[in-house]
Amino acid sequence: MAGDVPDVVALAKALIDCESVTPAQGAVFDVLEAALIPLGFDVDRFVVGESPDGPVENLLAVRGAGGQHLAFAGHLDVVPPGPGWASDPFCTERRGGLLYGRGAVDMKGAVAAFVTACASGPAVGTTSLIITGDEEGPATHGTRALIARMAERGIRPHLCIVGEPTSHARLGDTIKIGRRGSVNMWIDVPGRQGHVAYPHLADNPIPRLIAALAEIGALVLDTGGAWFQPSNIEVTDLEVGNPATNMIPSSARARLSIRFSDAHCGDDLANRIGAIVDRHAPGASVVAKVSGEAFLTPPGALSDLVAGAIRATLGIEPELSTTGGTSDARFLSRLCPTVEFGLVNATMHKLDEAVAIADLHDLVAVYSAILRAALRR
Ligand SMILES: [Zn+2]
Repeated sequence: MAGDVPDVVALAKALIDCESVTPAQGAVFDVLEAALIPLGFDVDRFVVGESPDGPVENLLAVRGAGGQHLAFAGHLDVVPPGPGWASDPFCTERRGGLLYGRGAVDMKGAVAAFVTACASGPAVGTTSLIITGDEEGPATHGTRALIARMAERGIRPHLCIVGEPTSHARLGDTIKIGRRGSVNMWIDVPGRQGHVAYPHLADNPIPRLIAALAEIGALVLDTGGAWFQPSNIEVTDLEVGNPATNMIPSSARARLSIRFSDAHCGDDLANRIGAIVDRHAPGASVVAKVSGEAFLTPPGALSDLVAGAIRATLGIEPELSTTGGTSDARFLSRLCPTVEFGLVNATMHKLDEAVAIADLHDLVAVYSAILRAALRR
């Protein structure tokens, strides 16, 4: 199979060169499929629904049957590049040991490393790639659709590695074993507009909103745990938009963002906030959007396996962390123990996103070590 081993740098470049701002479909998946077929993977591609921005493509690739089953999971969509790049974000440029392009670290570089690691993987057990085109967007038709597809086909991995860029200062320093959950809320307190001099003919919504926010601001959701910092509620916007000095406004609005540990679930938090608002401001509208539930894979067999692979390959001891935003590991962790490990995240979502070429090769070595250890368990 040696002749088929894809070059991780060439494959990363080919993936980056396919413009795939979320939601992704088409060419970038063609490149991945073409790399997987010669390695013996059965590749299942499917397009789902209509995200607000268009259809989403997903890819499920499986090799082998039975035995231990390790899944590598990730995404091929990227965030928009924005203006101001030193080189074309969708035409990879190599400068000074770095590969520049949108998605270099988040996370086409890791997807290329998955494939290259699989090329030399052991001929036992089952290996799969769970790759979506909708992680950076609403994630409605992405990994969740892949999990449904896997359930239909009776495919269930024993362990899952998500290739998000978890490393902080250098490759290998951080494994994510969990992430906090997130819920955003919009509160709109109605009143009745009128003249400040005639308050009995008007109804000022501002004191009611302030009273509700004061109680919400004083809530202690928890004091943190072994693996999570304390959950927090932040008021992120407060808006009345009243330009007049002598007018009582007709409504007052606020927006909240809550980040929470695995001690909570998004809907319960939203209901709790809704009840407080209702007590201070009956009739107010409260809209909540849970953008992700928290997850935790407690330290154990999987984190030991990944940490062991990093130690053996790179000679450093990774830290286990639950910091950062949400990721698709929140869905995958319901299937099987899931942790995230990938490239250095210093440039993710930024101008001039770049990956060190040496890191790409090292990541292949770590993923290969994980694969060997996982499949031969
Ligand atoms: Zn990502």
